[in-house]
Amino acid sequence: MTRQTSVAGFRLPVPVTRRLPSKTSAGTGSVGGMGSVVSSSSWPRDHSASWTKEPMSWQKLELIEQWLDNSAGRHSQELVVEARLQLAEGRLLFSRRDIESSSAPREALRVRIESAKEGFQQILADPAASAGARNRAQVGLRGAEVLLAAPGTKTVALIKRAQWSARAPRTANLTPLKGQWSRITVHHSAESTTDPRGGSLEESSGTVRSIQKFHMDDPEHRWGDIGYHFLIDSGGRIFEGRELDWQGAHAGGSNNYQNIGICLLGDLEKRAPSEAALKSLQVLLDDLRTRFRIPADRVAPHSEYATTRCPGPALTAWLRKYK
Ligand SMILES: [Zn+2]
Repeated sequence: MTRQTSVAGFRLPVPVTRRLPSKTSAGTGSVGGMGSVVSSSSWPRDHSASWTKEPMSWQKLELIEQWLDNSAGRHSQELVVEARLQLAEGRLLFSRRDIESSSAPREALRVRIESAKEGFQQILADPAASAGARNRAQVGLRGAEVLLAAPGTKTVALIKRAQWSARAPRTANLTPLKGQWSRITVHHSAESTTDPRGGSLEESSGTVRSIQKFHMDDPEHRWGDIGYHFLIDSGGRIFEGRELDWQGAHAGGSNNYQNIGICLLGDLEKRAPSEAALKSLQVLLDDLRTRFRIPADRVAPHSEYATTRCPGPALTAWLRKYK
């Protein structure tokens, strides 16, 4: 059961029950009925930016909106940019999920995606936004534009092979997918040349090309194409790797069977993945799992298939939580 509440001037479904924190700082929250449910209009004014600790949810988006309206002036520009970014990213994420489950009217979706797009554009125009925030906004903007161009389609914004100047595959050395994709394995590229803050599209394209060259030309590999199906850079850009018509080469022998390979660029044994990369990974995993009906517990770090520390401790912990 859901009830409607207004987020940025349009109606969004939220769970009907909402628990109040035991103590509220401001006395503006009027608690109704049983004392455990509060309507959006009586949500207490929270000046403390408590939203930063919340997992993504409709409720969090509402908290951020109220914080931006009432309390943002007391905080740093950096936090305000982060709030706007998370609000736009949340709208985009929930739009994607609603498209997957066909659970929102098309017009409401369009308004929400437009609103996310505006949020991302604001950040790109904001001199206070950091390079990392800009990268996330660029990824988000592209995602919003893809959804607006093809409403109702199940897709993520991809840097296609032609865009990163991929070599043509040697299809004779590739194995066609048999059956349907049933699991996903996540890797890191282990090279230290990737700019941990994102870098440019050209730099990351060069890294992806060098991985493809290694997989295709190295005498110990000689594969038909790059081994991974998707690669994600620190800026959150998602590159199309080996096409999904072909089985991958990333988890070893029969472990590649029906197994989609995703690789985050960078040496993630030495550093944690960027926020932008994790957000794109989440979007990509959500998208692939929906498209191919892959359960969350079939998403694994490479280390589950082989004696390796790939994809590094932080990403491995993140994947455990994802399940
Ligand atoms: Zn690996």
